[in-house]
Amino acid sequence: ARAPRGLLAPADLFGAGRVNAQGFDLSDPEVLARIEAARDVTLPDAAPIVAGPVSGTLRPVRNPATGAVVAQVTEADAATVALALDAAQVWSAPAATRAAVLCRAADLYEENFGPIFAALAQEAGKTLGDAVSELREAVDFLRYYAAEGAADTRPPRGAVVAISPWNFPLAIFTGQVAAALMAGNAVLAKPAEQTPIIAALAVRLLHQAGVPETALQLLPGDGPTVGAALTRDPRVAGVVFTGSTETAQIIARAMAAHLAPGTPLIAETGGLNAMVVDSTALPEQAVRDVVASAFRSAGQRCSALRCLYVQDDIAPHLIGMLKGAMEELVSGDPARLSTDVGPVIDAEAKAGIETYLAANKARILHRSTAPEGGHFVAPALLQVGGIADLEREIFGPVLHLATFAAEDLPAVIAAINARGYGLTFGLHSRIDARVETVAETIRAGNIYVNRNQIGAVVGSQPFGGEGLSGTGPKAGGPLYLNRFYAPEPVVAVG
Ligand code: NAP
Repeated sequence: ARAPRGLLAPADLFGAGRVNAQGFDLSDPEVLARIEAARDVTLPDAAPIVAGPVSGTLRPVRNPATGAVVAQVTEADAATVALALDAAQVWSAPAATRAAVLCRAADLYEENFGPIFAALAQEAGKTLGDAVSELREAVDFLRYYAAEGAADTRPPRGAVVAISPWNFPLAIFTGQVAAALMAGNAVLAKPAEQTPIIAALAVRLLHQAGVPETALQLLPGDGPTVGAALTRDPRVAGVVFTGSTETAQIIARAMAAHLAPGTPLIAETGGLNAMVVDSTALPEQAVRDVVASAFRSAGQRCSALRCLYVQDDIAPHLIGMLKGAMEELVSGDPARLSTDVGPVIDAEAKAGIETYLAANKARILHRSTAPEGGHFVAPALLQVGGIADLEREIFGPVLHLATFAAEDLPAVIAAINARGYGLTFGLHSRIDARVETVAETIRAGNIYVNRNQIGAVVGSQPFGGEGLSGTGPKAGGPLYLNRFYAPEPVVAVG
């Protein structure tokens, strides 16, 4: 079959000599013991990291699994935000030096796996498997953008604001910051309010590697105050944002009102991601991939599967298997290796998901179990007519299921496209011609065939959506850095 649209040729997969981070072999007891010993640390407090004195309000940081306070954060006040904007200076070192510093930071990230895993577990509720993947992705972003930009002499844009979500508090935070820094910009980073500790740890490692303090500053605080102040300051030359579609729209409006026309906004946003399983799929493989796509990381991935379409001939069999697989899922303490599904991020998230499930009680086909207490949500499977029935992205372990007749597949694809999002899409089918047709007609940034639809790999699977799911260019891909450089003047000599 012809390669589906967007598939990269092997030659494009890696920059010269760069290899992706190898991670850790969690099946090796010695490796595990080393990780356990290293991550047994108390989390440090976090505060703004700016080139000058800081002030702000103290707030507790909570463990998503238990709600217990694990550290304190000083959230930046207006004076600290203003000071950071005044102090911001582009990074004037040659591109090759910047690349070397980012590669040194990647090494430091790998060496500091203990405190990083501790923060990812205690502050973000990550299972160890998810934490390992996240560290690898962060390291890959650093080395990939370093390789991409090392010989690029284009000028930076200036001060770039980087606003990140809590669900990949290390990888997405690092990806945004690394790209902006690699192009020589001054970065003002605002992490999600739930995850300032891991962001502060990352910034300290980047400074230790050699990033100047005026080129990278950290401003913890909440979106509507710190984030909003940054995105309406006329000195800002670009914004890179990952989070919900609604917040991206608020930021776009603020930028349109206050910043120079054409100031770039790179927004990677939410999705209502679908998967289609036809009657030629291998049921065991499809079920395994559905479970991973919908419930891994407690469904708190932008790429996660939200609406599964199963061809009606195989639906009873596949739904039975899916319920059985959901029964096997272990929800609970992310620190335990046997845990499949950790907590959702906080009490507010849990309440929102449970309210949604209560309102849609009649649609529930199956629910797994989860521990009482703490912010755990038992994975849920809901019957719907199709993706049009989904009001919004439910950011948790909630999977919707619809069935379709073979002749209605084009209508299913049209309905998914009509929803307006376009992040990930999955297809399980053994019919090559169908794979080709669907991949050509579906509007999604990342299409996954006969596999799960989460976990893009920097350099080989650039990630990002279209429509309501993002502006592009894809993160971890060859076009991403371009947006961080200033347009160069054209000189015509008469
Ligand atoms: P969110 O509520 O939109 O928040 C994202 C970031 O924006 C946070 O740092 C937030 O600060 C900040 N923010 C909120 N209001 C703001 C404002 N008025 N001005 C400036 N910044 C503001 O999203 P989230 O709940 O953290 O993350 C989950 C969402 O992210 C989901 O929709 C998911 O699909 C999406 N996501 C997309 C991708 C992708 O690559 N496409 C990847 C990961 C996540 P506070 O924390 O203080 O509110």
